[in-house]
Amino acid sequence: MQTLAIILIEDEDGDAGLIRHNLKFSGTAHQVEWVKSLEALDQYLQSASTPADVILLDLNLPDSSGLETVQRCKRMASSTPIVVLTGHDDLQFSLKALEAGAQDYLIKCQLASDNLLRAMHYAIERHQLERRLQQSQELMTAAVEGGNLGVWEWNLKTGICFNSERLLNNLGFSSKDPDTPASGEEWIARIHPDDQSSFHAALNQHLDNAAIRYQSEFRLKHKKGHWVWQYASGHLVSRDTDGNPERMVGIQQDISERKAMEERLRTLAMRDPLTGLLNRRSFMSTMNHEYGRVKRSPDYSVGILMLDIDHFKQVNDTYGHALGDEALEAFATTIQNELRENDVFGRLGGEEFAILLPDTHLQGCLNVAEKILASVSALQVKSEGNVVQITTSIGADRLLANDNRPDGALARADAALYLAKQGGRNQVCLQQFNMTQT
Ligand code: GH3
Ligand code: MG
Ligand code: MG
Repeated sequence: MQTLAIILIEDEDGDAGLIRHNLKFSGTAHQVEWVKSLEALDQYLQSASTPADVILLDLNLPDSSGLETVQRCKRMASSTPIVVLTGHDDLQFSLKALEAGAQDYLIKCQLASDNLLRAMHYAIERHQLERRLQQSQELMTAAVEGGNLGVWEWNLKTGICFNSERLLNNLGFSSKDPDTPASGEEWIARIHPDDQSSFHAALNQHLDNAAIRYQSEFRLKHKKGHWVWQYASGHLVSRDTDGNPERMVGIQQDISERKAMEERLRTLAMRDPLTGLLNRRSFMSTMNHEYGRVKRSPDYSVGILMLDIDHFKQVNDTYGHALGDEALEAFATTIQNELRENDVFGRLGGEEFAILLPDTHLQGCLNVAEKILASVSALQVKSEGNVVQITTSIGADRLLANDNRPDGALARADAALYLAKQGGRNQVCLQQFNMTQT
């Protein structure tokens, strides 16, 4: 066994002699450094090359007395466990010594060698545990701070919910704010209506033991009224004697930035960057969806328009590609203004566009097409003294329940568009009937 390095701080020769005598007969290899005051301790510590394993500390020294001795000694040798030697057979006083930083205490009249050894070993072990706890708390704090994590504790029986300052701040509240919700119920009421069911499903799954952890993403109402995306995770730490859920603890994080980024990525994947309209892929996917609806309920009529700008190559050739782009943007905006909210407008590529008109019969489609023709003809794109005017040709049709393919109507509208081009452009055509409008 290793030699136990002990610092004995004791000014009474008699007491010190007794302690050394007891240690000698303890059977443990040890080495004692005996000092008689805190000042002497300080000097010794400055010259010592390795820290001692344990300090035996008398509280009444020439330069310090009582609990202050513990506090000062603790500051001087923070990495060494302390056993206080007290003359008081007073439990309260001894407990105060522990609060002040000592790891154990011994009453001087009970200094039998086994008591002494036990107290020293206990103090060393306790000190190690305290260190490990402190380190894990520091690690936890670093993770919580670094991850911008809020911490919550929720008593499901009393309803009381404790939230850390960071969690509250992320939502515009603070612990001193009288408006800060105090109960779990009040917080849940602040969850966005669309996120309520997924929140409750995640919570109940955990409480019913179907998931090891509760995890949920939801929008929560900020104090100022706007929504902020939150990620919450936690678990049940106790149940009552009847097995009912009692205490839950967990973390909560503001994920608004990640959600905004996801939204941007979704938009990028779905939209054409120049006009902001649906790109070909997402237009086709919406059309497939509408085709499904038409198949299920044949009375539901969805119109489709195919558009292709007339002589657009000339626009580019005459005014340059940049102005061509501006014209495409203006074209998209002008048409968008003619459409209803439910209508689906996509750029299929180049200067080709398509529009789905849900709940619209053929005559309605033709009416919309006429409005589009008129508004596009009236459009003037101006740049550096140039005024560009464009027209478009349109092919119209509608989705049919007996189409074999979702894009059957698109092919017919495309054929109708060809007729419109052949018919002289700036007009709308059906496959069979030329609805010329020039
Ligand atoms: P038509 O009336 O027969 O449709 O004639 P058009 O000139 O419009 O047809 P064509 O298909 O020959 O040319 C389409 C032109 O559209 C060619 C291309 O330069 C232009 N275009 C396609 N995409 C873009 C784009 O993103 N920006 C610009 N500025 N021009 C584009
Ligand atoms: Mg074209
Ligand atoms: Mg064209």
